[in-house]
Amino acid sequence: MGESTNQEHGRSAVDQLPLSGEPLPLELVNTTYIKGGVRGHLVDALAGPADLDAWLGAHGAQFSPALAEALESAAAARPEHVEAYLELRGALRHLAAARTGGRVPEPAHLAVVNAAAGLAAQWQELAPGTSFAAVPRWLEADPLRVALGEVAAAAVALFSGARAERLRACAAPGCILYFVKSHARREWCTAGCGNRVRVARHSRRARGD
Ligand SMILES: [Zn+2]
Repeated sequence: MGESTNQEHGRSAVDQLPLSGEPLPLELVNTTYIKGGVRGHLVDALAGPADLDAWLGAHGAQFSPALAEALESAAAARPEHVEAYLELRGALRHLAAARTGGRVPEPAHLAVVNAAAGLAAQWQELAPGTSFAAVPRWLEADPLRVALGEVAAAAVALFSGARAERLRACAAPGCILYFVKSHARREWCTAGCGNRVRVARHSRRARGD
């Protein structure tokens, strides 16, 4: 079986991601995963603009509130947005591997993340009238590019901060997902990976390996 088709049964591939609830940069990294374990196939849940819109919609709560609101009324994603998100995703996967593996990250990947982080630049202005409300403004006019910036900025915070010590690459065979170890006993990205590892151990023992 080759590439799985997105929009299976009218649902976005984003709805079928095996892992959710991780920090935003890992959520982006984890949009590629192996379906079916060691002999499985690679799934890319961000195959096109509709997938990116679905991914952004599903992660509204992880963006700054004003941006989440701007995203709701933003124009649909275009292919160049997908290209930019995939470039950032590739760089973040590399940095996650370097961070968990204790390796020096490639400058080119750092440059992608650092340039994207600038897109999150924001300041506050006073609204007209008697409300004296503070209104957020961004240097970048396109909410989807600001969102790319917030993912990158979240990556700077994640890889430089205390949570980086709990950053893990799932060690289950055939798994490429990353997670932040949320409790002491968490060994795998998902219960599914834990079960596959236990079943494999059991069958190795049964065969007397
Ligand atoms: Zn896993």
